[in-house]
Amino acid sequence: MNKVMIVTGGSRGIGAAVVRLAATEGYAVCVNYLNNQQAAEELVAAIIAKQGKAIAVQADVAKEEDILRLFKQVDARLGTVTALVNNAGILDRQTRIENIDYERVRRIFATNVLGSFICAREAVRRMSTKLGGKGGAIVNISSTAARLGAPNEYVDYAASKAAINAFTLGLSKEVAAEGIRVNAVSPGIVYSDIHASGGEPDRVERVKDSIPMKRGGTPEEVAEAVLWLLSEKASYTTGSILDVAGGR
Ligand code: NAP
Repeated sequence: MNKVMIVTGGSRGIGAAVVRLAATEGYAVCVNYLNNQQAAEELVAAIIAKQGKAIAVQADVAKEEDILRLFKQVDARLGTVTALVNNAGILDRQTRIENIDYERVRRIFATNVLGSFICAREAVRRMSTKLGGKGGAIVNISSTAARLGAPNEYVDYAASKAAINAFTLGLSKEVAAEGIRVNAVSPGIVYSDIHASGGEPDRVERVKDSIPMKRGGTPEEVAEAVLWLLSEKASYTTGSILDVAGGR
């Protein structure tokens, strides 16, 4: 079976590290992105230069019609998806609840939660042996914020990741007998651009001493866990939420 992976938000950060590792492990990879076409296309070009297979597809995972177009593009250009990484995720400026407006919460949940749900639905429609598919695996990118709560920073983001954890557990049981494994990776504090959108680009430096391992993680360290969960080496692992967080 050809290995075909979709990585939402694959153009930068953790998603890009997953894409790079997947390409070296023989996956044909779809690099989904929202705005940063240049980063996505450079990543694809680097993979093709090393005889790998990759495409870049713009789609906003907060929009159902974009997700449907994304999956159709993958069907046509790479073949049936066998691995989905629900990685696209956003947060907003660090603040307290009294400053959080409806539109911010709606936007965060639309991307982090609804996007992951609808992408998973499209993957299950193609993977489920009950529906004529050949199986597959899904990894949702959660966050340790789901159990820590992110007080005074972004409780909305933390709550969206808690929803992802519950979704991972429920969906894993729903499709376990249909050839699909569903797991989550829960990063702690990882070097990426996401902290700048929270208003603190150097957040990792500020908080790293509170991490038991006294350092932030790298996107590559998260990618290793994702690729393991998607691989046959994790063939009896489903419904797990794997912390990659330096002990946090
Ligand atoms: P990042 O560096 O900010 O990258 C975000 C990626 O998501 C980019 O590729 C971006 O595309 C894409 N994206 C954003 N909104 C999108 C949308 N609506 N539709 C499609 N793609 C979208 O983030 P990151 O730190 O790598 O985070 C990746 C995941 O890990 C997220 O789910 C995040 O919550 C989770 N996480 C991160 C950390 C951490 O410390 N970094 C910790 C725990 C969990 P463009 O390039 O086009 O903008």
